[in-house]
Amino acid sequence: MLEIEDLWVSIDGKEVLKGINLAIPQGETHILFGKNGSGKSTLLMAIMGFSRYEVRQGRILFLGRDITQLPTFERARLGLGLSFQRPPTIRGVKTGDILAACAGEKVSHQALAAAYDFLPFLDREVNYGFSGGEIKRSELLQLLAQDPKMVLLDEPESGVDLENLEVVGEIIGRLLQKDRRRHHRDKSGLIITHTGFIMDYINADQGYILLDGHLLCSGNPRDILQDIKKFGYEECSRCRR
Ligand code: ADP
Ligand code: MG
Repeated sequence: MLEIEDLWVSIDGKEVLKGINLAIPQGETHILFGKNGSGKSTLLMAIMGFSRYEVRQGRILFLGRDITQLPTFERARLGLGLSFQRPPTIRGVKTGDILAACAGEKVSHQALAAAYDFLPFLDREVNYGFSGGEIKRSELLQLLAQDPKMVLLDEPESGVDLENLEVVGEIIGRLLQKDRRRHHRDKSGLIITHTGFIMDYINADQGYILLDGHLLCSGNPRDILQDIKKFGYEECSRCRR
């Protein structure tokens, strides 16, 4: 579904990603670990095609098509969807309108909001005065409405209070078809997490660590998380497997 070949990305002249290779087959979800500043968000933003993230070398293929030069909205139309680490506040735009725009003709945005206890937020401006958990809930409902084939999540649990954590997990489980058997899943995911909390709500197939713009240590994501907890990311710098 998604293939990245030797990807080098800079932001404002600073080289952040230094030759990333990865492949995510249809129906699989991969987990990306890595300490702050290692380039995790940069990778997701580059996959989504935000113009600030300059691809210096390499290719991004989605569903067999080279999308490296496509604008962001066309990538979204093809089926790539992203939930931001820090979603912006948008004054003057109602949450219900943006949710309806994401849903298009596919589903009723009111029904989606009702299912996740979100109706009271539809008349409010996007993220204005929302708690951390409410922001992530709103962001993930927009993604559910958009129904992307490839789900990119940047620290979906960060800043989320206990009350919202459960519902955030449930929405992500639905986005990535946790209730279906492996061969019946057609959505794929790439998820950045620090806590691993999200692994209780999805079926994670593979994990890796981003260190200094390089991908290391691919394997079982639960094992990788255990090792990070035990040895810290410093050990990754020494090991560099
Ligand atoms: P992570 O998500 O792993 O914490 P980021 O992808 O956000 O890391 O950032 C990677 C590196 O790029 C960091 O060193 C960060 O300071 C740097 N960076 C991010 N945005 C900019 C920018 N606009 N200008 C210069 N450097 C940036
Ligand atoms: Mg980040």
